[in-house]
Amino acid sequence: MRRRTFLAGGGSVLAGTIISGFVSQPSSNKRLLEAAREPTDAGEAGTSTEMVLPGTNHETPLYEIDAPNDGPTAMVFGGVHGDERSGIEAAREITDWQPDAGTLVVVPETNRVAVENREREGVAGDLNRNFLANREPQSELANGIWDAVEDHEPDVVLDLHRSLGIYGFHREFVGQAIFHSPDAHGERLADRLNEDTVPWYLPFHTFRSEESSLTGPLLFQHAARELGASTYIFETTEFLLDRSTRVELTRVAAAHVLELHGLLEVGGDA
Ligand SMILES: [Zn+2]
Repeated sequence: MRRRTFLAGGGSVLAGTIISGFVSQPSSNKRLLEAAREPTDAGEAGTSTEMVLPGTNHETPLYEIDAPNDGPTAMVFGGVHGDERSGIEAAREITDWQPDAGTLVVVPETNRVAVENREREGVAGDLNRNFLANREPQSELANGIWDAVEDHEPDVVLDLHRSLGIYGFHREFVGQAIFHSPDAHGERLADRLNEDTVPWYLPFHTFRSEESSLTGPLLFQHAARELGASTYIFETTEFLLDRSTRVELTRVAAAHVLELHGLLEVGGDA
């Protein structure tokens, strides 16, 4: 049983080593996540839930969390690809966060059919290729998601994904990466993650940030192009990282994005 437990916890010796790096989480991350989870002194945020595409097989909940102080609106998406579970898991958790200012909108299971089938795509191909420039979104699901985006007029959009390999080693994969609109804080986000969260003994797992052209068909590109929002797509890799490590990287990245855009206030010198 001991061996079984070991395998369930880590999957490989290296993955097991990685977890220990995250157990000794730096105090800056603890403060950051505390700020995300605890209400500000001004009071609790109020949460309301609505359904996107109600009555269809795409029906999926959207959570709106209004902080007691005015501020920007950030939208967080998980499950645009249904097999990328770390983003779904982190986004579900984020529905319980307490922003200090502004409005936090979370859609944890964006492609509900794909999430339920644990597959990348749902019924109408790859949702993250459905947002072409100067065109209507290319599917019923993409239209419903886009309507929700337009309704909430986000200043910030964060789309949570996962990749498989390591950038540079595995040509077809992006590794640990942050692609962002030109005015977003992608480089600062990558720097913070690399300083505080990626262990020194995983040099190939450092995050790189890349400013994206806004001409493509991805949700984060469309939101930047159409609404002028600061947008991000976050990718953590399955290569050598176990599930809980990927979720931890994702939740820390999300908290940093909220802090960088003024939705979270972190005490001390974080
Ligand atoms: Zn993806």
